[in-house]
Parts: sequence; structure tokens; C-alpha cells
Amino acid sequence: MKPSRLRLAPLRCPGCGPSLLAVLGDDEMLVRCLRCRGTPVHLSLVAAVAAHVPGLAARRAYELSTTGAALAWLRRRCGSVATSEYLDGVEPGSLRDGVRCEDVQRLSFADGSFDLCTSTEVFEHVPDDRAGFRELHRVLAPGGWLALTVPMHDADATVERARGSGASLEHLLPPAYHGDRLNGPGSVLVYRDYGRDLPARVRDAGFDDAFLWTPPRSFGGHRRTVMLATRR
Ligand SMILES: [Zn+2]
Repeated sequence: MKPSRLRLAPLRCPGCGPSLLAVLGDDEMLVRCLRCRGTPVHLSLVAAVAAHVPGLAARRAYELSTTGAALAWLRRRCGSVATSEYLDGVEPGSLRDGVRCEDVQRLSFADGSFDLCTSTEVFEHVPDDRAGFRELHRVLAPGGWLALTVPMHDADATVERARGSGASLEHLLPPAYHGDRLNGPGSVLVYRDYGRDLPARVRDAGFDDAFLWTPPRSFGGHRRTVMLATRR
């Protein structure tokens, strides 16, 4: 991803309104809203929530990260927003440098604590994603929504790349890694490549409706399919 000359294009940003899209190169990470700094991933998530989830002002939201344009948008729109980060070996619910640490496979929140749960690019790194979906279903109150992005692959079925963790980690395919903000590039193992069966996996975890939605307009040629689900 060689940076090229900056291109600017008018943007009706789902995160912040009339703006400009800055395009520094072909990779989606080099495309951002100039005002809210939203990437195509965050802007797709915001567009999905705005299009589907009613009554945001009364909703208690939980976002599985502590930064980003989607979180900033949730903070402006929702009644309250809880956040957390995952840190290896830190007990769920404890604080590290003022940041709440949570493992989505075993959240420390009480049942029915939230009305909207969101995440971007988290679940492909969760060893037991079904446990994570069950936990988000548990902490959502009736009427709650789940909205998340993962890298989607052009396949009907999800492919598991690894299973277990720590000493019991087993690679089923050559290991693939993504970077993250806390641990640096190439640091986080990809456990699976999600296919079009993602909504079925989410329904298996207890959600009533689960479906994929793609923003009608792209952001500089990039847009993400978003997984939306409800708990009745
Ligand atoms: Zn924006």
C-alpha cells in the first residue's frame, strides 16, 4: 500500500454530516472522513446503526473498543456508552490505566445491561466466537441490537483457521495476523475467515433476527458489510 497523492471528494458522512473524504491510497485504511476521521469500516457501521436501530437517545450502548469515529458518533447519539479493551491476562471487569478490560467470551456485565452492542474487527480474533455472541446476547436487554463488522470473505461457510489459545493453541491453516492499536502490526491471530453463514452463527447464539447489510454508497470505493441482529 504505497501512499499516493491525496485526493479529496465531497462526502455526506454518516458520522458527521457534510464533509470531505480524504483518499491517500487504494487501501481502505488510507481512506478517511476529513472531519470525524472515520474509516470505511467505522462509517459503514455508523450507517448501519443509523439505518436500522431506532430510539438511539434512550439506548445504553456498549462498544468493544475505546477509540474511533464510530465510538465518537455513539457518544453523541446514545443515552450512555460503555467501552472496554481486551488485554491478555487481565481479569474481566478490572481497570488498567483507567480502561475497563473485558473478554467478550466472559463479560463481567450483568444480564440486560445494554440496548446496543457494537464492535469493529474484533470477532475474527476471538477463540470461541459463539461464546462471545452468547455473552453479548446475555448483556443485551429485550429489544436490544447487535451491530458488528468483521472481514467478510466471498464464501458460503466460515473457515476456522485456528482453535484454542495459550498452550492449547492449534493452527488448522497457516497462521494469519492483523495488527491492532495496542499490540502493534501483525500481532493478533486471525481465528477464522467469516463467510455468509455469519448471521446463522449469531442466531445459533440466541439472537432472533440476524442479517447482513451493506451501505448503498461506498466511501471512496470501500464499504463494509455489517452484521445486524436483534434480541426480542
Ligand atoms: Zn465524518
